Amino acid sequence: MNYISVAIDGPAGAGKSSVSKAAAQSLGFTYIDTGAMYRAAALFAIENGIDIRNDRETLINRLEEVKIVIRYTDKGQRVYLNGRDVSERIREEDVSIGASDVAVIQEVRDKLVALQRKMARSANVIMDGRDICTYVLPNAQVKIFLTASAESRAQRRYEQLKEKGEECDLQKIREDMEYRDKNDSERAVAPLKKADDAVLVDTTELNFEQSVEKIKELIKNVL
Ligand code: C5P
Repeated sequence: MNYISVAIDGPAGAGKSSVSKAAAQSLGFTYIDTGAMYRAAALFAIENGIDIRNDRETLINRLEEVKIVIRYTDKGQRVYLNGRDVSERIREEDVSIGASDVAVIQEVRDKLVALQRKMARSANVIMDGRDICTYVLPNAQVKIFLTASAESRAQRRYEQLKEKGEECDLQKIREDMEYRDKNDSERAVAPLKKADDAVLVDTTELNFEQSVEKIKELIKNVL
């Protein structure tokens, strides 16, 4: 059976995950958050004292020890690193920055892309990330580049953290986001960029429901 793949790329904080998750739920697709895999790889490095920026070799040599499994439960997507549920821990800021740093390493990408492609072969998926349209699933039936202004992306992230009751500083969030945007767009391997055939969706002026509707509409057009 041939499954449908929806590929969604875009910068940090554009709402890719929440919008993709809601659209997937409503259409009965499996949502695959590829950022979570880079985050889990970063967490492995952090927990094993590997200096990601200055000692890539050690991480590359130990990649075989990194076992990432994504499971779907009634609590949604759960991410396991070597058998341990790390779904909450990988959302913390040190892991966000670490993920962007491990993501420049070709060997890390090769390992995770193989896992992502395998998952897309076994279900109808909405997969989000940075290189899904351009590299992971170039033949996806629907390709979307989801973005929003840097200011509104930082503001949304700030509100999300506040809602969770976490201490946060808007200026620091904005700086971390700019660091990741730059790192992700300027790296040599699989940089973040809009695929020529992806539809641009700018959510700066859209609320959450409108963004989900827009994505569903684009998907329904090909179903
Ligand atoms: O999407 P999320 O913010 O969770 O991704 C964390 C980091 O993982 C990104 O900043 C990016 O560097 C990296 N990433 C990537 N390719 C993907 C998904 C995420 O390089 N397909």
